[in-house]
Amino acid sequence: MSITSTIRPPTEAPFSTRDLRVEPIVVTENLWKLYHAGKVEVPALRGVNFKVLTGEFVSVMGPSGCGKSSLLYVLGGLAQASRGHVLVDGNDLVNMGDAERTKLRRHKIGFVFQRFNLLPTLDARGNIAIAQHIYGDGFDPHRFEVITKMLGLTDRLKHRPSEMSGGEQQRVAIARAIVNEPKIILADEPTGNLDTQNSEIVLSMLSQLNKELGQTIVMITHNPEAAAYSNRVVHMRDGVIVDGVPAD
Ligand code: ADP
Ligand code: MG
Repeated sequence: MSITSTIRPPTEAPFSTRDLRVEPIVVTENLWKLYHAGKVEVPALRGVNFKVLTGEFVSVMGPSGCGKSSLLYVLGGLAQASRGHVLVDGNDLVNMGDAERTKLRRHKIGFVFQRFNLLPTLDARGNIAIAQHIYGDGFDPHRFEVITKMLGLTDRLKHRPSEMSGGEQQRVAIARAIVNEPKIILADEPTGNLDTQNSEIVLSMLSQLNKELGQTIVMITHNPEAAAYSNRVVHMRDGVIVDGVPAD
């Protein structure tokens, strides 16, 4: 009898890293989002079928106005879907009220925006720590240290947003987004306000978080060079995804 067969019964499937990746963390089915501007109805999403597997880093590309931000906001519970289904970690957001969606968002989603959205009166440490307090579990020094080190922020923690470069501010925003170990990071053009050098730093850090921590990321971008950091690119047009949907 070999050593392996004494350790693991032959009927048990061998462990494979592929097994970690098969679970979809996000699924949309025929997802619609209509905005009402006075009497006019604007269909921003017109039946989106989209799936993100745990551990994926997906880019969403497409012309301005095609519905990219709307998709991200609905996935993250910031906007209410009009029709269809949005499953995040098995929870259907379409049937949830505002309070329930807010709770799910706090516990499962981390947002990163083009404009960083940091609080100007708090230093970097405060901007990151406040996310842990809102989450409700209080400050976790170990997680804080791991994340800020990975994002190269250790020497910047006492600086306020106005005392940091755009790239540093976006890294603080990423730290704030991931400090509570969200199931998924949703990033809306995270390098849209950054120069090339800072864009490269931010993108390689997102890629590192994906590879080393297995962080699932969905990122909207206009830039093919930014999209190249992800594992998969989907294209949107007129409120639908036109390609890049994985074969089932
Ligand atoms: P993208 O991020 O791809 O540029 P958006 O999701 O922001 O696209 O917008 C999709 C469509 O929905 C556009 O026609 C836009 O004008 C419209 N839209 C977005 N937000 C609103 C809103 N709050 N009220 C009305 N129309 C909106
Ligand atoms: Mg947008």
